[in-house]
Amino acid sequence: MRLRWLKNTLQRPLVVAQLFNIPIKVDATWLPMALLHTWLVAQFWFARGLGNAFPLWVYLFHGLIATALLFVSILVHELAHALVARMEGLQTYDIQLHIFGGWARLVGEPRHALSELRIAVAGPASSFLLAVIFWLCLLAVNLFAGQRDLAAWMTINTFLYLAVANLTLAIFNLLPGLPLDGGRALRAWLWHRRKDVLSATKTAKQFGVAIAYMLISYGLFLFISGAWRGTLWRDTLAAAWLLAVGVYLMNAAENDYRFRLQQQTQAPSNAPTPAEGTAGAVMRTPVVSVEPHITISEFIDRTLAQHRQTNFPVASGGRLHGILALERLRAIPKEQWERLAIRDVMSPIDETHFVTVRASLAHVAHQLEHNEFHWLAVIDAEGQLVGSVTKEDLRAAA
Ligand SMILES: [Zn+2]
Repeated sequence: MRLRWLKNTLQRPLVVAQLFNIPIKVDATWLPMALLHTWLVAQFWFARGLGNAFPLWVYLFHGLIATALLFVSILVHELAHALVARMEGLQTYDIQLHIFGGWARLVGEPRHALSELRIAVAGPASSFLLAVIFWLCLLAVNLFAGQRDLAAWMTINTFLYLAVANLTLAIFNLLPGLPLDGGRALRAWLWHRRKDVLSATKTAKQFGVAIAYMLISYGLFLFISGAWRGTLWRDTLAAAWLLAVGVYLMNAAENDYRFRLQQQTQAPSNAPTPAEGTAGAVMRTPVVSVEPHITISEFIDRTLAQHRQTNFPVASGGRLHGILALERLRAIPKEQWERLAIRDVMSPIDETHFVTVRASLAHVAHQLEHNEFHWLAVIDAEGQLVGSVTKEDLRAAA
């Protein structure tokens, strides 16, 4: 299924900040969500507690503050993933905040299960910490100001909301199914036990799909019971949200798995062990390649959605045709995404773009310096694409 919003997410998201050298981007789906959230918090959190004793703007104002702080909380969650990934040797391409929260897009994949586990757990851990911090703020205000006036009451309830929201965020993300953080942790654990990332991913995906079905069922239940009790309007909103999240999770779980399956079948199964000090020994495998004939839209939906890297080799039947740089893609107006094929926007292959598995590390380093992408494809003796190398890979191997 093609998800419209996913495309929107990737269509020129606005860079709002740069933190720890990571661009923070917000896409168009976020603004209506922020407005809706502001209104919902004003209506169901503040106004419900105080009745209609105060004008609407008082509630909306605090709803806006709660929304802004929730935005910061999600950012902290994603930054935690990104910073732990950095400690594990993985760079972050960017952090995107969208309608379902956010994601930190890492360049490449963790090299081992423990690394994956650390990166996965960092997010929920930071959300738990934020919940505790907001709770302590609440206690402090309660202690020193009490609930004697409107401002104090509002402040306490804003902190209470943020503590609850962050706790919910942490718990929800720990549900053990892909693509949630808990699913990644589960996959890491299974990967460690079974020594088989593919079978681990399969199980974690099945858990993810089961969770998605549960959310969808609960959404349907809310919808029906809302109609029954005559509170359809309010329950419809919650039901629609659960259904949307359920469908999103199901798609993401399936995509993640399909992508890994594809990676596995592309990986050479009986490749000889590469010699020390050669490109083969430091390259990253399996390599994710893109077919030259697919459109930009198809690439964004199928490949980019699951894989976070800045350059992709363009290959057909294992033969290298060119290199696709994301930076270059960004310059292309979205109206042309359906029409243009990857081959129209890739950089055609030349000798600075690749090395053979037997190339010396000195040669690899030299090529990386003289290559505009600072990224190299690695091919075997038959000219088949087998891996990729970046400066980070070289450094990690040194
Ligand atoms: Zn997370």
